Amino acid sequence: MSVSPAASVAPSSVLALRERVHARGGLILEAEIDLLRAQGPGGAVGYVLEGVFGDHPDLSAALRLQLVQLWQRQGAWVEAHELAQTRAFEQQALADAPRDAFDAVRGSIAAELGLMTGSGAGFAHSRLEAARLVSPTGLLAETHQCLLRGWITSSIARMLADAAGDLIDGLGSKATLEQMKAVTEQLQARVLFTSIKDIDPATGIGIPRAYASARDAINRAVNRIDPDRAARRKARAHHERGVFFRPLPDEGLAIITATLPIADATEMFEHLSDLAQSLHDETPDGPTVAQLRADILVSAVCRAVDLLRDGKSLPERPTWRVGLVMDLATLMALREGKSELPGIGEIDPELARILAEDAQWQTFIHSPLTGEILDQGSATYRPSEKLRNFIRARDPHCTFPGCRKRSHRCQLDHITPFPTGPTTRANLHPLCQHHHNLKTHAQWQAERDHELGTTTWTSPHGVAVIADDPPPF
Ligand SMILES: [Zn+2]
Repeated sequence: MSVSPAASVAPSSVLALRERVHARGGLILEAEIDLLRAQGPGGAVGYVLEGVFGDHPDLSAALRLQLVQLWQRQGAWVEAHELAQTRAFEQQALADAPRDAFDAVRGSIAAELGLMTGSGAGFAHSRLEAARLVSPTGLLAETHQCLLRGWITSSIARMLADAAGDLIDGLGSKATLEQMKAVTEQLQARVLFTSIKDIDPATGIGIPRAYASARDAINRAVNRIDPDRAARRKARAHHERGVFFRPLPDEGLAIITATLPIADATEMFEHLSDLAQSLHDETPDGPTVAQLRADILVSAVCRAVDLLRDGKSLPERPTWRVGLVMDLATLMALREGKSELPGIGEIDPELARILAEDAQWQTFIHSPLTGEILDQGSATYRPSEKLRNFIRARDPHCTFPGCRKRSHRCQLDHITPFPTGPTTRANLHPLCQHHHNLKTHAQWQAERDHELGTTTWTSPHGVAVIADDPPPF
């Protein structure tokens, strides 16, 4: 199986085209669009397209639409190159890595790529997975070829990569390269070649398969190639269950999302709704059914957790105390200064004063002029409770750029290792487990600027990024 070669037009004649387009004030003719389409995407074609004045009054809507397609194919071509380069970077970085630090280096590679492209480590991780498959030497090399020609969209390439990853996972950890080749070849045979069948390789005329149709075809193909997949996906969905929290401080609300097996979710929702409905029927002028569901959920969960804890010896509830940062004048209601719950966000000063009276909240007073909070220090390795709480108020998140792991779930790292570096406010910062590992095992360096409160991170391959989440005020 291979993708037939593109019609080739001498690049020099493509470049001469740019001159003609330019001489016409950016107007391109239909025959010239045909020539570019037959050439297929690339640097020379991009150079001509860039010289086209897409708003030219003599350009018909039909030709403008053709130009959109040419640009879209350029985008696919760029994506193909980016994936190939991503793969090349990963291979070199792994080749340079010491064997004993392989896992940390893998995490480090995703972190560097995420920083360099501004996309975050999670997205970079999935790009790396796609690049291992969709690259000139990967198991989906033909998919890479089609992307390079602009014959498939990047979303189809991504779906094929995900599906191939699924099929390879399904083979288990002892799968041979031959087995992996067999499943990825079947996948491409069933989907890729039908996806490009309407495009004439000689002229480039035609449209790619629609997204939804390709998605269905990929699902069908994967289920044929690997009939056990449905059961496996169900098991994985079960594995991905969880409860997540997202604060909306501006509205004084927070969203709790629960991802649950569908049977559990349905049962729970029906119980909630039954009770809420019967309470609502008793007092129709009272809270709505939706509001009652919320009230019942809170009291049910809080009571159930206490019951579970009493019945079984679950671990103690962590004694994390919520910090509240405000200035003295605001606390005394002399002014309406800024108040914040570290890691959650700014809150209304009146609400802050109410919370400050509650013993569960630990209040940190800052100067309204500098935003500075008082310091505590220690000569021991383990920071005092007071110092830990201080750091959590100062740095609400892990100090790695873009990481939003809440400070109270992080470890306190000595920026300069103890005992060379002391256990002080200046030498401590919160790091999540993952970013702590990068610093300890993968040659990432952190440097804190005490004046500005910023941390500069330098990656093993020299990407330097300043994590400049502003201090509370
Ligand atoms: Zn982190």
